[in-house]
Amino acid sequence: MSELKHRVSRTCPECGSANLRQTATASAGAYGPVLLPGLGGFLHSAQLQVVVCADCGLTRFYADSNALAKLPRSSRWFAL
Ligand SMILES: [Zn+2]
Repeated sequence: MSELKHRVSRTCPECGSANLRQTATASAGAYGPVLLPGLGGFLHSAQLQVVVCADCGLTRFYADSNALAKLPRSSRWFAL
């Protein structure tokens, strides 16, 4: 969880609140889309770090550092 401290705003970009909570979750499950295709491991999906504003509900998702490290070599992702 500490990896977010260095790169994520500590205030909500929507309402400016500092009342934020964070957690981590898998980027894919049995019944949902694969949100970070090609960036997980052999038997597991990539992790998402999730930050939610406890005041307005804005929710932000961040690929974890392992997923980011795979991104430049992935054939599933293209630069905009
Ligand atoms: Zn907010």
